[in-house]
Amino acid sequence: MRHDPSRPQPAALIRNLGILAHVDAGKTTVTERMLFAAGVVHKRGEVHDGTTVTDFDPQERDRGITIFAAAVSCGWNGHRLNLIDTPGHVDFSDEVERSLRVLDGAVAVFDAVAGVEPQSEAVWRRADRYGVPRIAFVNKMDRAGADLDAALASIRERLHPLPLAVQLPIGSEAAFTGVVDLLRMRATLWADGSGDPRDSAIPEALVEPARDRRHALEEAVAERHPAAFDEFVEQSQVSEETLRAALRDLTISGEVVVVLCGAAYRNRGIEPLLDAVVDYLPSPLDRPPVSGVSGISDVGDLGDPNDNGDDVSRAADPAQPLAALAFKVQSTGTGRLTYLRLYSGTLRKGDSVLDVGTRRVERIGRVLQVQADRHTEVPQAVAGDIVAVVGLKSARVGATLCAPEAPILLEPPTSTEPVVSVA
Ligand code: GDP
Repeated sequence: MRHDPSRPQPAALIRNLGILAHVDAGKTTVTERMLFAAGVVHKRGEVHDGTTVTDFDPQERDRGITIFAAAVSCGWNGHRLNLIDTPGHVDFSDEVERSLRVLDGAVAVFDAVAGVEPQSEAVWRRADRYGVPRIAFVNKMDRAGADLDAALASIRERLHPLPLAVQLPIGSEAAFTGVVDLLRMRATLWADGSGDPRDSAIPEALVEPARDRRHALEEAVAERHPAAFDEFVEQSQVSEETLRAALRDLTISGEVVVVLCGAAYRNRGIEPLLDAVVDYLPSPLDRPPVSGVSGISDVGDLGDPNDNGDDVSRAADPAQPLAALAFKVQSTGTGRLTYLRLYSGTLRKGDSVLDVGTRRVERIGRVLQVQADRHTEVPQAVAGDIVAVVGLKSARVGATLCAPEAPILLEPPTSTEPVVSVA
């Protein structure tokens, strides 16, 4: 079923994610192939021919894809995926920080030959600071020298979380033709040509190794999440659903990193990756409420003059007053687009919002869902979602926008680690 961007999406069915990668690991290709698999991009773009939708360069973009967006939406298995652009270059560190602030989870892309590289380490540490749950995609499995086990070892040694592969590759290098899904215990094969995935039984030679890996996966999960397995102690094999739910909990708590593999360039491994985004990465409801300071006492007659600012928190609830963060402003043919992450409340066309920084009240012209090749106007958007709005004249990147009658200044998210210089 085609994703209908104009339908309001409950927060539980939203995934706000970024693709984090070392330059050249394949972030652009992975993003583009995800959009293609989700049916948003109909033409198969190549990184070098100017059709790739996530690299914004007006000079190179002459084939009808309209804009590179700060966030692009697509649908997968009944969920809305908002892909937030996260620059791969360390030089853009402010931009990286801003994007990390508005996403709930991330896919870290690694090169199957190089494993963890210095820049992937730098981006990883930043995501640690913001407590962003991650899954990993080991890309370029078709390259000579590609080695999933070595990549897993480098993640374990250099990044320190426990990487848990949920797939076993079928074939290697040029003969990398599929993966065994260790949860379903089925194989996905990619035939040459169409690139469409085909479900199949596990190839004979991999039945034993797959069983061993599945067993090891269950043990690793049981050790870290015994509660999830309680009711299954009597059974010899833990069910797929139990294992998946436990892996999701452990991903969200940051204890493990679920690892998948593929070759984005050849359209291999993309559908399982999209499934994993939905299965393991948190929805806005799984994230802690945002905190801020209430009461902007000197905003004219706005707010309560006796309120000097209490600490308040807001949950991803459409019924609470609006609290949103502007994380990108872009000038486009459509006008000045301000990208917002909605943390609480509901945003409608025509609403008045207070820009806490400038103390100005502005009106929302239009609310847009941004897809790769078009914008769709929506009547409203609810807490948890990411939208672009037209009509804000002065709101800057980093601005808190809120309901005028319930002012809140969103605090920067708390760092869980000291800031490490990565330059
Ligand atoms: P980014 O810099 O991380 O955005 O990486 P790109 O997506 O631009 O990819 C960098 C290079 O790696 C390009 O030349 C891609 O064609 C190539 N590439 C991407 N994915 C794969 C893959 O799965 N296999 C191989 N062999 N090359 C890939």
